[in-house]
Amino acid sequence: MTLRDANIDRLRDGLFDVLVVGAGINGAVSSAALAGRGASVAMIDRGDFGSFTSQESSNLVWGGFKYLEHFEFPLVFGLCRSRNRLMKAYPDNIKEIGFLAALDRKAPYPPWFAALGALGYWMIGLFGTKPPKLFDVERVKLEEPAIDTTNLRGGIQYQDAYLIDNDSRFVFSFVRSAIEAGACVANYVELLTAEHIGDRWTAHLRDVDSGEEFTTSARVIVNAGGPFVDQINGQWGLETEHRIVYSKGIHLVVPRLTTKRHDRVLAFFDDTQRLFYVIPMGRRSVIGTTDTRIDTPFTEVDQDDREFLLAQINARLDLDEPLTVGDIIAERSGVRPLVVRRKDGDKRDVEWTSLSRKHEIERDDDLGVVTVFGGKLTDCLNVGEEVAHEIEQLGIPLEKDLANWYGEPAKATRSEFFRQAKLMKLDQLRSKPDTEPLSDRLWRRYGRRAFDLLEAIRADPSMGEDIMGSADYLRAELHNAAEHEMIVKLDDFMRRRSKIDLVVPDEAIRTSPGVAEVAEILFGAEAERRLTEYFDEKPGIG
Ligand SMILES: Cc1cc2nc3c(=O)[nH]c(=O)nc-3n(C[C@H](O)[C@H](O)[C@H](O)COP(=O)(O)OP(=O)(O)OC[C@H]3O[C@@H](n4cnc5c(N)ncnc54)[C@H](O)[C@@H]3O)c2cc1C
Repeated sequence: MTLRDANIDRLRDGLFDVLVVGAGINGAVSSAALAGRGASVAMIDRGDFGSFTSQESSNLVWGGFKYLEHFEFPLVFGLCRSRNRLMKAYPDNIKEIGFLAALDRKAPYPPWFAALGALGYWMIGLFGTKPPKLFDVERVKLEEPAIDTTNLRGGIQYQDAYLIDNDSRFVFSFVRSAIEAGACVANYVELLTAEHIGDRWTAHLRDVDSGEEFTTSARVIVNAGGPFVDQINGQWGLETEHRIVYSKGIHLVVPRLTTKRHDRVLAFFDDTQRLFYVIPMGRRSVIGTTDTRIDTPFTEVDQDDREFLLAQINARLDLDEPLTVGDIIAERSGVRPLVVRRKDGDKRDVEWTSLSRKHEIERDDDLGVVTVFGGKLTDCLNVGEEVAHEIEQLGIPLEKDLANWYGEPAKATRSEFFRQAKLMKLDQLRSKPDTEPLSDRLWRRYGRRAFDLLEAIRADPSMGEDIMGSADYLRAELHNAAEHEMIVKLDDFMRRRSKIDLVVPDEAIRTSPGVAEVAEILFGAEAERRLTEYFDEKPGIG
């Protein structure tokens, strides 16, 4: 029986302290915090873990330098604190990174003023990163020759952090932490309806993969439905002080654009005076993002989005050939769930990009519902702690918070892993010269489970071979994913547990002889069906 089947079995007619609806970052972190402090927790998502907004982010863990434009000092202070905490708790997954902002004649601020802002940002961030720097035009060209300096006034470099793998893999680390603390979690399980009778909820659920319907019970519900929180609360007539509006943002993944160093974000003001970035993702660059008001949570990249971003980047980089739609390897599109107060009415008349990115948490004592509105990946530890506090207010006792529901394993465990990896000469197995050492990669991706991978490779050296020519994945990683990562569809692995789908061109995936073996390891007898489903559902570009 798979872990998912076993958990669906536990869900059927089960009774939990808390049912968490939605397994994006907010649901996952809430489950990890609650299960880690002794509550009995069930968490469901009608898609895969982290498969909606949380897989469409810029992968940045940041205090939001740009929010200083709107004088959001408390928000920036809070986000900087969260960034600093995350960098400390996840030293191998979240890395400090420089943002080189190039300021041309159309930019709203001169470099000296931006440098003052960066200094203030560094101070608000309690000096948690390296200090900012002011660059003249020559220095900008020297730092990154790809930047077109024709109209440049200069630049600044300030520091923030980013997720080396991807956002949805980060979400999965909290799902894993919740599972390890005993939570019953299942992807592809939808909440259809729920009734509050007496002191408990009965939730009607549907296994989206098999179509089976069943019920489960819980004392309280955490509504972590992201862009769907209002619809979910609407089902049981809960009136909240806040509600969600949507802002669409897109990213384009293209071949590497930087020519000097690939460990830095480039930042530019676009023609609408909004900051956009070129962010490293493995051997690729990611251009984004945009900020457009939209009335539906379901979005895709359209031709206007593509043309806008390509034109912006072509105007600011000195490329041998301008980037075209044909260069796009993958696209991402999502909506930021932004919080507004109901009593403020429609916000169409306010400046759209000035709407705050802060989260709000509301508790309803009569129904026993805690709702998470908005937020950022960067704010996740605060959300986990705040949800746990609200759950305690609803009468569910929790153990003391020992802060052990998040973070990478202890330093001693890490040292032991690298000692064992060195003894077995793991890094010499690396087949591609321009990739990071295997020991770094396995430790970052799997933490404590990386020991099992060493064991598997020792027992069978073929487990240490790359499984798809163009992707950085060993056969052992696939076996680990099949057993421990609750993969239902091939897309779950290709897009979220790994980032293969984002960095390997579609054609290379289709023609890779390894992809059939990937499906075989993950799905056994179901491999053919899952492969067909994956290619049928894969969106095209352009
Ligand atoms: C373009 C863009 C760039 C961003 N960049 C950054 C960044 O760089 N750094 C940062 O910190 N933040 C960033 N953010 C913000 C961040 O990504 C989001 O705030 C965060 O991912 C929201 O997470 P969530 O858990 O609330 O929502 P989601 O991830 O959308 O999760 C909600 C889940 O609820 C599930 N659900 C809904 N209804 C039901 C139901 N009836 N039954 C079961 N499940 C249900 C959905 O399937 C979904 O998976 C960005 C956002 C966007 C759009």
